[in-house]
Amino acid sequence: MKRAFATVLAAMAAWLLAVPAAALPTLPDLAVTPVDGKVVRGFDPPELDWLPGHRGVDFATVRGATVRSAAAGTVTFAGKVAGRGVVVVSHGSVRTTYEPVAAAVRVGRVVSVGTPIGTVEAGHTPCPAQACLHWGLKQGDAYLDPMTMLTAQLSDVRLLPAGSGLAAGRRIASRATPTPTAGSLPSGGGTLRYPVKGPITSPFGMRVDPLKHTWRLHSGTDFGAACGTPMVAAAAGTVRSVAYHPSYGNRLVMEHGMIAGARLTTAYNHATGYVVRPGQRVSAGQVIGHVGTTGDSTGCHLHFMVYANDRLANPMPYLGGG
Ligand SMILES: [Zn+2]
Ligand SMILES: [Zn+2]
Repeated sequence: MKRAFATVLAAMAAWLLAVPAAALPTLPDLAVTPVDGKVVRGFDPPELDWLPGHRGVDFATVRGATVRSAAAGTVTFAGKVAGRGVVVVSHGSVRTTYEPVAAAVRVGRVVSVGTPIGTVEAGHTPCPAQACLHWGLKQGDAYLDPMTMLTAQLSDVRLLPAGSGLAAGRRIASRATPTPTAGSLPSGGGTLRYPVKGPITSPFGMRVDPLKHTWRLHSGTDFGAACGTPMVAAAAGTVRSVAYHPSYGNRLVMEHGMIAGARLTTAYNHATGYVVRPGQRVSAGQVIGHVGTTGDSTGCHLHFMVYANDRLANPMPYLGGG
């Protein structure tokens, strides 16, 4: 009997393995955490569809906390499922889910990265805090780990062993190339302010990763400065998120609206800490935090990033450095 059961399981496993893997999802270039707070329960999908598991990640928060869209997209569901408030935002080939949430948006609403979409309700259990937000990522019927949306920004998905074939290199390079709309790039001359005083220690572009020793995209411009050096907003804007990222360390994302023909977003990474809060308006040159070496970092520096229309871009043309 036991043996027959094992045979059935083995047959099922063979069938599952025979199913071709789904195409790799195209994740948005720019994503932020959906709520302030620590991850208290990670992604733990079941081996088999019908078994229990955890098909998303939970953030510890409080009732009424603002929930943000993790990336730009369109709201495709806002309502109740089995008595629970749920919001779904579609981002092309993938969609993110948020629950339990009292929706503040309607279906069809186009949202930017960080746009408030509702507030956290109680009810997701188990939860060690007053309330937990469950954040999910789906491609078709498949559940993916939503944290990959954050790590994808570090271009781990574009990671290549050093010396990999040309074809792969070209594919990666084409993805790494900023894709401004025609004529939208400033010709130089300081559309953005330098975010910190200090020399550029590593430019944007392909390089051998100093920690992982692989050929990969360096997703921003590094400025060397002593830990504790103040860093400033590159332009006037609104703070979208302040969160800890396993690779970027303490990370702040700020939206600036339309500048030089593109919707600009900047990100400041590895700080010791920040002195501004999500939702806060800041002026150009205002001190927002202090240089640090949190996350994957080999020394005190600011890893400064620019996104144009949610696509990763080389910061230098915006800083007037060509
Ligand atoms: Zn959950
Ligand atoms: Zn860097």
